Amino acid sequence: MGSHLSEKLVMEGHEVICLDNFYTGSKANVAHLLSHPNFELLRHDVTFPLYVEVDQIYNLACPASPIHYQRDPVQTTKTSVHGAINMLGLAKRTNARILQASTSEVYGDPEVHPQEENYWGRVNPIGIRSCYDEGKRCAETLFFDYWRQNNTEIKVVRIFNTYGPRMHPADGRVVSNFLVQALMGQDLTIYGDGSQTRSFCFVDDLIDGMIKFMNLPAEITGPMNLGNPTEFTILELAEKIIQITNSNSKILMHPLPLDDPKQRKPDISLASTLIGWNPITDIESGLIKTMAYFENVIKESRK
Ligand code: UDP
Ligand code: UDP
Repeated sequence: MGSHLSEKLVMEGHEVICLDNFYTGSKANVAHLLSHPNFELLRHDVTFPLYVEVDQIYNLACPASPIHYQRDPVQTTKTSVHGAINMLGLAKRTNARILQASTSEVYGDPEVHPQEENYWGRVNPIGIRSCYDEGKRCAETLFFDYWRQNNTEIKVVRIFNTYGPRMHPADGRVVSNFLVQALMGQDLTIYGDGSQTRSFCFVDDLIDGMIKFMNLPAEITGPMNLGNPTEFTILELAEKIIQITNSNSKILMHPLPLDDPKQRKPDISLASTLIGWNPITDIESGLIKTMAYFENVIKESRK
C-alpha cells in the first residue's frame, strides 16, 4: 500500500519521504520512484524516534498478514504502539497532520454486520490475533488522546481487506495465496469450510479514499471505514480465482486458525458522505490486474 501511496503523492507533486524497515516490504516496489527528485527512501523502524521536517504523515507501519504479524507478536504490538507514539510525537513537534492506517480488525469477530464506525468491536485481548488487533486499537486510543490533549490534527481510517499488485507472493493472505496457487497449478488452501466472508477492496480505490480523507478539514478525525462492501465467502473467492486464472487447481481444506473472524463487511456510508467515495473496481477487474502482476513475478522467478 505504501508504494502505491508514495507513487500517487509523488505524481501529485508532493515531496515524499518513504520509511520502511523491510520486514515485509520490498525495495523493488519503490525502485521506479528512486530516481524521482521528489522521492526519498529511508530504512527506518518506527519503534525508534525519527526527526525530520514534514507537514503530513501517513502511518501505515505494521505487518498486516497473520503469518507475518504472528511471527514476532511482541514486535507487532511495539510497531503499532511505540510507532504511533513516535509518529504522533513527530506530528506534535512539526505541527503536521497525521493519518493512522487502522483496520477492520478493531471490530474483531463482529456481532454487528455490516460494521459501522460506532461499533466498539469484539476482540479477544489474549489470542494469537491480539498483538495486531489490540496494537491497532491502542494506536487509535493514542491518536484520539493526542488530539484531545495536544490538538494534534489526526485522521483515523479503518481499512478492510485490500489487495492488488505488489503484494508479496508469500504474503500469506487469501487473495495472493489463491492467485499464486492457481497460477502454479497447486491446490487452493481454504482454511475451515470456506463459509467465512470478507469484502475485498482494490488498492487503487483504497489509496484514493485515503488521500481524499487526509485532506478534509481539520475538525474531521474519523474513524472512517474504507473498503469495498461487496462481500464474498472464501469458497466463492476460490472458485472465482480458479475461473479467472483458467486453472485446473483443486480446493483443499485446512483447519481454521484460532479467532478467525466469521464475517466482515464495511458500512461505508460515512466515507460516501464525507468524501463522496465509493470503490469503482469490481472484484473481476481487480483480480485480473493482480493476476497479471503475479504472472510476471512467477515468470521472473523462473528465469
Ligand atoms: N519523537 C520523534 N520525533 C519527533 C518528536 C518526538 O520521534 O520529532 C518521539 C520522541 O522520541 C518521543 C515520542 O515521539 O518519545 C513522543 O513525543 P512527545 O513529544 O509526545 O512526548 P515526550 O517526548 O514529551 O515524551
Ligand atoms: N484464508 C484461507 N486460505 C488462505 C489464506 C487465508 O482460507 O490461504 C482465509 C483466512 O482463514 C480468513 C480469510 O481467508 O478467513 C482472509 O484471510 P486473510 O489472511 O487474507 O485476512 P484476514 O483474516 O486478516 O481478514
